[in-house]
Amino acid sequence: MPTVLDDASIATATARIEPELIRLRREIHRHPELAGHELRTSALVAAQLTAAGLAVTTGVGGHGVVAMLDGGSPGPTIAYRADMDAVADPETFDGDFASAVPGVAHICGHDVHTAVGVGLARVLAALRDRICGRVVFLFQPAEEDLTGAAAMLADGVFDRDVPREVYAVHCGPLPVGTFGVMPGTGHPGQAYVEIDLAGPRARADAARLAAAIDGFTTVRRPTSPEEFAQLIAGLQEPDGPLARFVVADSRVTERPDGAHVSGWLRAWPESRYAEIRDEVRALVDGCADARVEFPEPFPAMVCSPELSNAAADYLRGALGPDAVWVIRALFPFNGEDFALFLQRVPGAMFYLGVANPELGIDGAPHSPDFSVDEGAVGVGVRAMAGFLADRLAS
Ligand SMILES: [Zn+2]
Repeated sequence: MPTVLDDASIATATARIEPELIRLRREIHRHPELAGHELRTSALVAAQLTAAGLAVTTGVGGHGVVAMLDGGSPGPTIAYRADMDAVADPETFDGDFASAVPGVAHICGHDVHTAVGVGLARVLAALRDRICGRVVFLFQPAEEDLTGAAAMLADGVFDRDVPREVYAVHCGPLPVGTFGVMPGTGHPGQAYVEIDLAGPRARADAARLAAAIDGFTTVRRPTSPEEFAQLIAGLQEPDGPLARFVVADSRVTERPDGAHVSGWLRAWPESRYAEIRDEVRALVDGCADARVEFPEPFPAMVCSPELSNAAADYLRGALGPDAVWVIRALFPFNGEDFALFLQRVPGAMFYLGVANPELGIDGAPHSPDFSVDEGAVGVGVRAMAGFLADRLAS
């Protein structure tokens, strides 16, 4: 079936509001709010969506905002999620919209995600007569502590009107104007390990176990522009460093009667977790008086192969044949709670390229000097508006 809405109309509608969206992004950047405290951000979002004529519900799963947009003709329901919270780390950026909150900053790009989500809602609202079906926008709180998606789902966002598909974007260290898609892969989830040790050798054993856990790490965040360029260059190789990887970190707490090792692991593919658990158990068995526990892991985020490929096709057509990176994973390697939406409804997350090497912007989230080429906001809105309209018409 043909796309009901043409890309030229979307581009025009996006260009009309792009300066306002960049102002919104900077406003949110200047006033970052931690997970669970997104009062100001959610109020800004709700005001813009209400003004655009969407049916808005606030206070969903905490400070979440849900907005419904009905097209001019009937069709399926598709959901789109943007996360709103900031990170409890400072940023090095000191421009005029730098964080006004000491120790809190949008170094994961959720300010960009929110601006893209608002722009997408406004563009589709302006062209609503020409779309069929319904788009449900989920502006999610508390992604950084992995609680917001669960809270919105517990509040019933997918209960009344189950969407056929759900999508999201995350800023990524790819060139602005491009997207990363991850058919059948995504974010690695997160596993935990807790080890209690007692007896005279506890501290020495704890140090050894912690080093062994850290030693599972196969890929590190690049520390130089050269390493960075190398990792990005290898992203699409089937056997590249992110095709199969582990990132692990642990720390030792010494106690009067022994020691404790607390660690987390992020691994891809998921089958790696079981292998690592066996290896950790074997190491613990070699200690005199040690007990290991593996608390409930956070699930991996797995994108639908079919819908990721559909997005890749659409994006190549809309942005150009070289605009899509087919990858397996990308940093940040943090858990991503979009995983929980994808467990309920098929869909995909896409990396929105925000890097611009000529401007010295590597676009790697969760580093203190994280910044974006703001051209990504318009690219994200245009591409996602066209893709969603396309999906609704299919
Ligand atoms: Zn993030």
